Amino acid sequence: MAEPAFSLCVYCGSRPGALDSYADAARAVGAWIGSHGGQLVYGGGSGGLMGLVAQATAAAGGRVVGVIPQSLVDREFANHACDELHIVQTMHERKALMAERSGAFLALPGGIGTFEELFEVWTWRQLGYHGKPIGLLNVARYYDGLLTFLQGSVAQGFMGPWQMDLVDTDVQPVPLLERLVQAAPGAGAGPALRSVI
Ligand code: AMP
Repeated sequence: MAEPAFSLCVYCGSRPGALDSYADAARAVGAWIGSHGGQLVYGGGSGGLMGLVAQATAAAGGRVVGVIPQSLVDREFANHACDELHIVQTMHERKALMAERSGAFLALPGGIGTFEELFEVWTWRQLGYHGKPIGLLNVARYYDGLLTFLQGSVAQGFMGPWQMDLVDTDVQPVPLLERLVQAAPGAGAGPALRSVI
């Protein structure tokens, strides 16, 4: 198989959420990755939005790289249909490998796992540990409350507006995906993420 055109890390819910639009967006993201010759890097799960993104990527001809801790494999959460499934020992190893293998990051709706992953790559970016673009897909305005809270943090002097600008937000998947892939430094590994662990 040819080298993927790009490698995108997607963070999203291990549950499907309450609205059909969340699942539709997850499928749309996977279909876009696959149809543009890309590679999905994700948490290797089979359920929720995670499973839907992976299935849609593979169905559209894309490559799927899953990175999952042994504890979740033991609970039968792993997607064994991945082109590459990396089984690691800790969540820290998982997130580091996902970040290393990606040229850009995209968060879809999800819960605390998704929030944690988004905030981690965001803080790494503000500190200059990587220069990879980060996107937030605000499906059905799911993230409006969070964005309002963060603007409040800027207003209260705990964040600068430039930090908000490090995350590219859109309600539509395709324009956001196009911008992220265009801004990504390359399909493979980026700058020395290892240095942050
Ligand atoms: P959440 O947003 O809380 O559903 O968590 C989603 C993220 O947390 C994923 O990207 C995974 O890194 C991790 N995660 C949480 N639960 C699972 C699971 N059942 N299977 C795989 N990964 C999970």
